[in-house]
Formats: sequence, structure tokens, C-alpha cells
Amino acid sequence: MTTRRDLFKIAGGAAVGALLTPAPWRMITDGALWSENWPGIPRPARGEIRAKFTNCTLCPAGCAMKARCVGDQPISIAGVAGHPLSHGALCPYGIAGHHLPYHPERLLSGAVEDAAAAIKKGIGEGGRIAVFDTRPGRTASWTYRRAMASLPGGLYLRPEAALNGDAVDLSAARTVLSFGVPLLDGWGTPGNVIQARGNFRLIQVEAIESRTAAMADVWLPTNPGEERAIASLILNGGMDHIARELEDGPVLVLGPEDWPEIVELNRKYGALGRTIVSRRDAPVPDTWKDAAPEMEWADAAEGSIRVLLIDETAPGAYVPWHSIETRLSRDAVVVAFTATRDGYARHAQFALATAVFPEALDDIPAAVDSPAGVFRLSTSMVPSAAWTIDPAMFIAQLAGIDAASALRDRADAICRSARGNVFHYADQKSTPMKAMKADAFWKSLNEGACWIDDLDPKAHAPQLVARAATRASNVSLVETCGAGLVSPLFSKLHEESHVRLARHEIALNPAVGFCDGERVALQTDCGRIAMTVLLDPSIPPGSIQTATGADVLDLCGGATGAKVVRI
Ligand code: SF4
Repeated sequence: MTTRRDLFKIAGGAAVGALLTPAPWRMITDGALWSENWPGIPRPARGEIRAKFTNCTLCPAGCAMKARCVGDQPISIAGVAGHPLSHGALCPYGIAGHHLPYHPERLLSGAVEDAAAAIKKGIGEGGRIAVFDTRPGRTASWTYRRAMASLPGGLYLRPEAALNGDAVDLSAARTVLSFGVPLLDGWGTPGNVIQARGNFRLIQVEAIESRTAAMADVWLPTNPGEERAIASLILNGGMDHIARELEDGPVLVLGPEDWPEIVELNRKYGALGRTIVSRRDAPVPDTWKDAAPEMEWADAAEGSIRVLLIDETAPGAYVPWHSIETRLSRDAVVVAFTATRDGYARHAQFALATAVFPEALDDIPAAVDSPAGVFRLSTSMVPSAAWTIDPAMFIAQLAGIDAASALRDRADAICRSARGNVFHYADQKSTPMKAMKADAFWKSLNEGACWIDDLDPKAHAPQLVARAATRASNVSLVETCGAGLVSPLFSKLHEESHVRLARHEIALNPAVGFCDGERVALQTDCGRIAMTVLLDPSIPPGSIQTATGADVLDLCGGATGAKVVRI
């Protein structure tokens, strides 16, 4: 007969037994994941596996991608072998790009009607309206320029760019002199840099032994903040051993774009026209050519902008907020089109949620290391979430212009130019543009093809513009994926393991007196941010290394003499 004691024994034994099986622990993990991601949790589809080809919009490189899809849902992403621009390589951000629609920190809504009303009020009161485009050269950028041309006092603003649309031809370089540029760690198109690496010697001038410094042929360690003085010394005939290396040309000098010494070194060593080349833009319809001119952000008059619309849907250059703020009028309305709260949304009255990769249909202009103009699409592999808006359509509507078929219109203009070749990913063959009809070209683009322009036989050597330079900073920023979203997988793979610095983690030399894991503040004349210390003997005393992020760029952009203080 079963007694009460037996029942307790059975219940107790079952409870202890259950704890020894994986079941309860599994339920805790799954419950945590589900509650963290709800309601955007992906539902793995079942069915036939197919390949789709597209291009990555997560940074300006625009690497070619092959996505394995079940039905229409991408389940894994790889590079496209034999691709003439990205050579089969992808960075980790691109490989996990299909996670982004389910990102728990994604911006999920925005007060679209209120934003439209505030914009119309600002324009109605006679204020100047401007679009700030973090990634110029896209077809959406042309829509903004056309829209601004049709509004009184409309301005189209872009970040400063020393190359000004011209390009670097790494394949032509024999010696590359780099001042802190992360050439082998995320600069340009990673596959193209790897492809060209065997042909050039790399001299890296940098205070910290970064990944690029560690893989360079020559690492020239400097004291923190002294890089610009070294550039000046080389320019003026000092440092014989480096000057001798630079006799082996063609030479390319890379560095912060606002240092006049970089421009002068490139001139002195004959880089202009050889390793820095002029590039033609992809053609556009003739009717677009009366669009508003491109203006660099810094050229906008102080206090002049009443309505500012910021498109940061495609991560590109980030201009620190303190530099933007000075151009706004006192009662300015700022609207950010974004997928994250981390970027300009922190400073805008309205943050309007947009689609993310791979939801949005967009084009990707040529990368900095592509001597030829290109036109390729990032096709929509996942339907856009219902709460998102398309900033180009929003702004076109505001200005009363028709931009619904802008991508197709531009593709037709490229087809009419009969320039260049179309590379088809699936069979890895190229077809001359002049042998293609407009409909076939458009179909190919939507299947992931890429148009590559002919090099311009009449191209002149580019004219680089020297600017008023900032002083070198003692903060070394490790690139993450701009101000955009990054797959949460990375917090496990490379941040918690310290393969890369996590956000708000700061690497310091043990000799400077802080402890591992200590909470400190990184402080500049623009403010301070709380950080956690990671001791790293490879960081020289006086240098500070941290990961980029919009708040860190706001803090450190243009600031010098950063210091770490206890909190
Ligand atoms: S380098 Fe840029 S474009 Fe290429 S895969 Fe990475 S994020 Fe995408």
C-alpha cells in the first residue's frame, strides 16, 4: 500500500531528478530568450532551401552576399566567391546581418503625423529646411537633393570627405603609409583589402599596437597624440628610414582626412592620379540634374537651420552632435530617420522608425576603395515591419515630388549610358551594358547583380582639399558598425570574450593605476561617459582605447586631451 510518506518520497525524488536533467535549465534559457525578444522572435520556416543574392548595406563597403533562405526567410549569409569588388569576403557584422529585424533594441515606432506637422509649421514660418544624409551618393540622396531644390531655402548636407567622391586604388600601391587608419581591420571593402595586401608594404604609424599595426610590415610606435608631428617630419625630409621606404612607389598615404599633411604627403609622393584616382558617379536621369548641390555640413551657416531631417538609415560618417547643434536655430525641429535610439535620435524631437537590413530596398554607392563607379541593390529579403517608414518617400512627399520609381529610373539612365559591365553573381559572368535591355538589367539588379563602370579614359588627377585640422587625440577608437544596430550574437562572441572591446569598455595600461573592472568616466571638454576598465599592457600609458558608438563620437569627436577619472 502506498503511504503518505511514499508519496513525499516520490515527489521529492522527481524534483531532485528533474534538476539533474537539462529540462529546467533549458526552459529558463528559452524563457529568457523569448521574453527578451518578444514580440519580434523569428519563427524558423520549414521548406525548400534556396539561394538569394544581394548586397550588404551595413557599411559603405556594400559587400556581395549569398543568403540561404527557407522559403523567403534568410537563415544564413555568406560571401560571393569570385566577386570583382568584395572577392567572397564578409565581415562578422554582415554574416549576422539577417538577425537585425529581430533586434531587441530596434526602434519600434515614431510619431509620424506629429513630425510631419512640426516640419510643415517650421517651413510655414519661413525657416530653412535641410536634409543631412550620412551616406551620400545613393539614389535616396538624389531624392533628397531634388526635394530640397523644390523647397525654398532647402539645403542638402553631407559629412566632410577629403576624397570628395574620388577613390583609392589599393591594387596600384606598392607602399602604403598609414597614420592610425585601421586598414586591415574594417577599412574599405575587407575582401578587396585582403586581395591587394600581397602587393604593398604597409607602414603603420600609431601609438597603440592595433590589429593593423600588428599585421603591418613596419609599425612605427609614437607617443599618444604625436602622429601628426611625425607626418610633418616625414613631409619635411626627416625620418630617413621611412623616406627610403617611400621611394618604392606608387605610394599611398592614409590618415585623418582633415590633416593637411596627408594631402601634402600624397602630392609629394605622386599618389594623385596613381593610387588616388578620380571616379565617375553612376549616371542619373537628366531631369535630376537641377537638384540642390551637395554641401558639406561644416559649410552651413551657424544658427541657420529651422528644420533638420537626418537620414541615418544607412550607417556612414557620424558628425558629432556639438558640431551639428551650432547650425540649428533656437527653435529648430530635428527629425531623425533611424532604426536605433543610439544615434541622432538622442538629440531629435522626433525619431521615426525605419526598415533595417535586409528589409529595405536601397542602392549602395561605390566604396572608398573602388576606382570604378558601381550600382547595386540591397534587395528586400524580409518584408518591412508595418511601423516603419521610408525616409526618401516621406521627404519626397513633403516636397511634392514623385520618387516612387527613382531606383528604376536611375537603372534605366545607366542602361542608356551603355557604359560598363554587369556582373551576375549566380553564374559569375559579366555582360557588357550595351548588350543589355533596360528590363533585363533591372531584373538582374533585383537578383543581386552589380553594374561596374568603365574607368574614365579622360579622368584628371583628383584635387585633394586640405582643411583646418583638428589636433591628434589620445583616444584610439576601435570601429564597431558605425552608429547602427549590431547582431546581439556579438555580445557573446566578441564582447564578453574581450576579443573586441564592448561598448563603454575602456582599455588602459595597468601602470596608470586603475583596476580591472573598475567604473570610471571618460572625460573631454564635451562631457563624460561612464566606462568599465579593461587592463591591457599593450596600451601605452597615456593612451586610451575604447569602442566607437554615437555617444563616444559625440564625446571625442574634435576633442583633445581626453582623460579617465574615478567616479
Ligand atoms: S564590411 Fe560592411 S558591407 Fe561588408 S559585410 Fe561587413 S558590414 Fe557588410
